[in-house]
Amino acid sequence: MQMNGLAGGKAEQEVEKRRVSVLGATGTIGQLTCELLTSNPDRFKTVALTAHSNAAKLAELAVSLNAEFAAIADGRLEGELRSLLEGTGIECGAGPDALLEAGQRPAGLIMASIVGAAGLAPTLAALRQGTIVALANKECLVSAGTLFMGEAAKHGTTLLPVDSEHSAVFQALDALDCKHVERIVLTASGGPFRTWTAAQIAAARPEDALKHPNWSMGRKITIDSATLMNKGLELIEAFHLFNVRADQLSAIVHPQSIIHALVYYCDGSVIAQASLPDMRTPIAYALAWPARLNTGIKRLDLAAVPDLTFEKPDEARFPALRLAKEALKAGGAAPTVLNAANEIAVEAFLDRSIAFPGIAAAVEQTLNKAVAELSGILPDNLEAVMHLDRRAREIARPLCNGLQMALPGAGTTALSS
Ligand code: NAD
Ligand code: MG
Repeated sequence: MQMNGLAGGKAEQEVEKRRVSVLGATGTIGQLTCELLTSNPDRFKTVALTAHSNAAKLAELAVSLNAEFAAIADGRLEGELRSLLEGTGIECGAGPDALLEAGQRPAGLIMASIVGAAGLAPTLAALRQGTIVALANKECLVSAGTLFMGEAAKHGTTLLPVDSEHSAVFQALDALDCKHVERIVLTASGGPFRTWTAAQIAAARPEDALKHPNWSMGRKITIDSATLMNKGLELIEAFHLFNVRADQLSAIVHPQSIIHALVYYCDGSVIAQASLPDMRTPIAYALAWPARLNTGIKRLDLAAVPDLTFEKPDEARFPALRLAKEALKAGGAAPTVLNAANEIAVEAFLDRSIAFPGIAAAVEQTLNKAVAELSGILPDNLEAVMHLDRRAREIARPLCNGLQMALPGAGTTALSS
């Protein structure tokens, strides 16, 4: 059946290639995206690629995809990138303006896969060009959800979810009609500390937290998965993407990561999306939307997977989830502050400056401290978002310094789950 005009055979070859840019091309999501672009040269043409500081990898990707433009965020690396690309005909730039240019170059779709609030400006620039945004960078919607959804509507474009749970919801939704949806449930793997006691979690080291049971991801999201902040950020992300009330959204722990989300309808029907935990599936769905792409990845064999189990998240051991839910309920500046404080606290934990429970503690203290000063500021324009983000970081940093006392003692031994 032909659903969307992208039928097979001759007609498919005649379909114009989709012009794609990748923000954060050197990251986990970025490289998987580049892999899919490489293996589907008949479907895609690469426009712009960006990276933070890995000039060699960026140049390698730009050359292999024959990109038009490559941008490196760290301005000091312009010379290195330029010499790596010499003679290739690929244009390049460095610094914040070059990132913006990457977002603005005419493209059909941009993969927003920078990590954190650093992706806000170039992703917004792409939306304002009317480019379809495939959004992996969930922090954009947490920090500036109202602004992003408003700009997408204003410029007549679409935000496509790349997060596996949101891609699952998007696929289970009835033509984006949420009228008959009762509730949406996102699944969470539970992270590496799902079965750990509070005492074990208190002594967890970065190398323990970086061992995710099911997914191989960047460091920040891996730590967010260990605290369950990731699921909290995803509830806020879903709130903006799917136009539902906060009380219609919840999370359930599903350690096998086979079911990614469930949509409950008013007639008692529940539509769930299932696939093996491989980000190439949701990335491919966004890249080709509304068509599909053959990823060639391993297929789900239900008889071969372990039992599928589900359990309630434990907000006592994982308070970050509660904090994110409270921020979603409070709205206004709270999610922007939560996101910025979390970025600072995760960095401090990875630097071994604070203990694992210090992440949630720093976020909670930042929210409490910021409330009087920042609650009147609405993150409905980029300047306000950036102000909230900056102030929340300024408040969070000394709080993290204060939490250094809570570091587990020297010589802490490795814990097993
Ligand atoms: P990553 O750390 O592997 O990659 C991050 C990318 O962003 C890199 O290309 C890096 O160069 C770039 N970057 C980092 N800081 C930057 C800065 N200051 N300015 C410009 N560029 C910068 O991260 P990832 O795992 O690929 O995750 C990317 C985003 O996708 C995150 O928001 C994450 O939450 C989301 N996401 C990831 C996964 C996953 O499986 N990895 C799944 C769902 C959602
Ligand atoms: Mg996810």
